[in-house]
Amino acid sequence: MAEVGGPVERPFPPGDYPLVVVGSGPGAIQVSYCLKRLGVDHAVLSRDPAPGGMFRRFPFFQRLLSWTKPYAPARRGERAFERYDWNSLLARGGDDTPITDDQAVMVDLMDGTSEFPSRPEMEAGIAEFARRTGVVVRYGCTWESTTREEGPDGVRFVLHTSDGTYRARVLVFAVGVAQAWQPDTPGMDLVAHYVDTRPAADYAGKRLFIIGKQNSGFELANGLLSYAQRIVLASPRPARTSVETNSLVGIRARYVQPVEDHIMASGVFILNAAIERVEAVESGFVVHTRGSADGSPLPVEADAVIAATGFTAPLLDLPALGVTTFGQSRLPAMTDFWESATMPGIYFAGTIMQGAKGPLKYGIPSNSGAVHGARYNARILARHIAEQHFDGGPARPPVPPDGVAAYLAREAFEAPELWNQKGYLARVLTLDDAAPGGKRRHAAGGAWRDDGILPLAHFADVGGPDAAAIAVEGDQAGVIRPALYIRRRGVVTEHLLDPHPLHAFASADYRAAIVAALAGLGGAS
Ligand SMILES: Cc1cc2nc3c(=O)[nH]c(=O)nc-3n(C[C@H](O)[C@H](O)[C@H](O)COP(=O)(O)OP(=O)(O)OC[C@H]3O[C@@H](n4cnc5c(N)ncnc54)[C@H](O)[C@@H]3O)c2cc1C
Repeated sequence: MAEVGGPVERPFPPGDYPLVVVGSGPGAIQVSYCLKRLGVDHAVLSRDPAPGGMFRRFPFFQRLLSWTKPYAPARRGERAFERYDWNSLLARGGDDTPITDDQAVMVDLMDGTSEFPSRPEMEAGIAEFARRTGVVVRYGCTWESTTREEGPDGVRFVLHTSDGTYRARVLVFAVGVAQAWQPDTPGMDLVAHYVDTRPAADYAGKRLFIIGKQNSGFELANGLLSYAQRIVLASPRPARTSVETNSLVGIRARYVQPVEDHIMASGVFILNAAIERVEAVESGFVVHTRGSADGSPLPVEADAVIAATGFTAPLLDLPALGVTTFGQSRLPAMTDFWESATMPGIYFAGTIMQGAKGPLKYGIPSNSGAVHGARYNARILARHIAEQHFDGGPARPPVPPDGVAAYLAREAFEAPELWNQKGYLARVLTLDDAAPGGKRRHAAGGAWRDDGILPLAHFADVGGPDAAAIAVEGDQAGVIRPALYIRRRGVVTEHLLDPHPLHAFASADYRAAIVAALAGLGGAS
């Protein structure tokens, strides 16, 4: 791997490329791997000196939120194993290719003391994946600004970087959502943000005040329980845990120890209170709060204050170029295929993909913000880019009509894409065939083809030939079940299949339910 100033010549010098990817976190490494697999020529640039992205620094304490279970109900490296290994990047095309050393890389790198990797283990896993798969990055190259110009083949984007100028018709930004965001509350400029957290020993014996009750705030509180003499966590609304929301929304179970300390009155206080201002005093700080329930003021003295108030995407001048953003994190408004809704040709990968919300059924968001969701989106994105911009893309294999129900049931049972992106991605089988010139048309009585894994929102909204899509969905009560969507003459109907106590969705009963819902469509049985 090319390190800045290292002996290896740096790849991708400034110039013209068909496509440029920016970043070297899991998002960029995964999308580069997938593009390479599809034969799409591209350059990858990153300001970092080595792979890993945000995981080179965060999370600060202890371990990640996402697990890798070495002894899962599937063989290590098999496709079904990915359901239990949220942290390895994907070294396959989504099919059942033979197991190779490139798959499930994280298992080799974890010391076995926990299924949650430590930050250094995760960083090593991303670097090892890049090494084993040959993903190459120009490190130490900072994207600084962006323009557009007319080129011989239409509009091109121009990236101005610390190393020179890059031109490309297609850009993929995988620049993360890890830039500090602080509200403009008076005195907030006096305090540190999460990103400025110091080593744990610096907080030994201190009174710590953490502003914010999301995962990053609880990660700090949990990591500093054995250092700080007192920890106050405060924000206006009550903290909810993932166990209460039946989803990854809320404080992850990994970080709820401070809640128990609060309940046992053992040095942690969790307040539902607005932060009105922060005052610097001789002994440190006074945080002026106002209780959410009764509006009563409560000044709290602290030796250290950390704002765990959130992160934004470092999109530099893209908004000025025409990329619309929304919300506190300044995520770009995107299509179902993670293309800027307002600036075609600009795509996003990695955790920024969480901006494409999908159906939001039951109000539960996708897992695109984490590695185990974004890695599947990256594979779909690479295929979409190959098809839209480079006349490429994988084949769409036929599926025999008498294998349709069994295939859909099997996917609901074990497809890692459907389980890790519940209610967001779906396996799509389409009744059509490809006409000359690559144009697809509806063919009455045509063959079933496997369209692969696609965003469910795209299937539901965009129309097209008769088709069936299977997803796995979880609702707010924690019930998980397969959901079959059938499109006939442009109308999509939803068929929720029964849940099963052991999620055994591949049985004859499920196949029969799918056959009944398909009602002879394309001769499916
Ligand atoms: C505190 C915290 C803890 C998290 N914990 C987990 C977890 O346990 N598990 C999990 O799955 N997810 C976790 N996440 C979500 C996490 O952000 C993503 O899963 C993942 O790291 C994002 O990968 P990425 O490649 O999209 O972005 P990043 O990892 O943030 O990488 C962004 C890359 O873009 C580069 N870059 C940015 N700007 C420029 C520029 N101008 N020029 C050149 N290069 C640039 C950076 O150098 C970096 O290489 C966490 C997030 C936070 C904030």
